[in-house]
Amino acid sequence: MIAIFDIDGVLADNAETKNLDCRKPDQHAEFARRITGVSALPMARFAQAIAYCGAPFFIFTARSEALRMPTEEWLEDTIGTVGKAGMYDGLLSDEQNKDFVYSSNRLYMRPLGNNDEAHLLKWKQLQGLLAILKETEFNYSNILVFEDNARSAKMFAQNGCRVYRPFEFRAK
Ligand SMILES: [Mg+2]
Repeated sequence: MIAIFDIDGVLADNAETKNLDCRKPDQHAEFARRITGVSALPMARFAQAIAYCGAPFFIFTARSEALRMPTEEWLEDTIGTVGKAGMYDGLLSDEQNKDFVYSSNRLYMRPLGNNDEAHLLKWKQLQGLLAILKETEFNYSNILVFEDNARSAKMFAQNGCRVYRPFEFRAK
């Protein structure tokens, strides 16, 4: 089993960022300011539990690469060792692990200059991950995706993933 988590609206409260557009470089500074110290949603604790159980764990976000540093800092504070090699220890052989870590990163972001709509960008991220998994002959039976955006969720489902759209039900 492999888990893929979206960030905004799944791991992180997106109340302050949902009206910003990461495709616009002139909004990056404001985006970076708002995500620093943003509240973690309860799903972040769930993601942390999955990660510490040793499940392969990826984060796909439509945030720009320009925001990698504040994003990784937030994830490391919130979830732990995202972006570092340790989470794969014991799952792959040393040789596979080396190749896997070398050729990939757990945090998939929007390349600089990319203007894709989020669901298309995430399709590309998924293809990138599948290509790496194929190279390593990593044996997985399910990809579980936690994604709040409807079009992205549909795309993942159409590509054979099991998709969960977090929805927090609140009593009025
Ligand atoms: Mg989202």
